[in-house]
Amino acid sequence: MNGDGECGTTEESREWVKDHSDWHCPICDEHFSQRGGKSIDHKLPRSQYPWLSMDFKNLWVICLACNQEKGEMHWYEYEQYIFMNYPNLYLNVRSARPKQLLEALKN
Ligand SMILES: [Zn+2]
Repeated sequence: MNGDGECGTTEESREWVKDHSDWHCPICDEHFSQRGGKSIDHKLPRSQYPWLSMDFKNLWVICLACNQEKGEMHWYEYEQYIFMNYPNLYLNVRSARPKQLLEALKN
């Protein structure tokens, strides 16, 4: 857990969570209720990219179990990790890649 809970404290982010999540985690496809509930994750970790911590392009709602497993990994590191450990989930993760943000970081 990396302190993402505090994001749920504003009205704006609560609304955002409601609009951006359904019943299933976009990574593992499991029901949120089976996996510890919903959590807001930073695709690019806040510890490395603090200025992206409130950029909605960098946020997604995933289950708590996936969030904890992802931890502070960089996005590409995480894709690699999933590919090695959960090849069947790789496409889910790759399709969520924050392309715009990663492009912008190159410049
Ligand atoms: Zn999950």
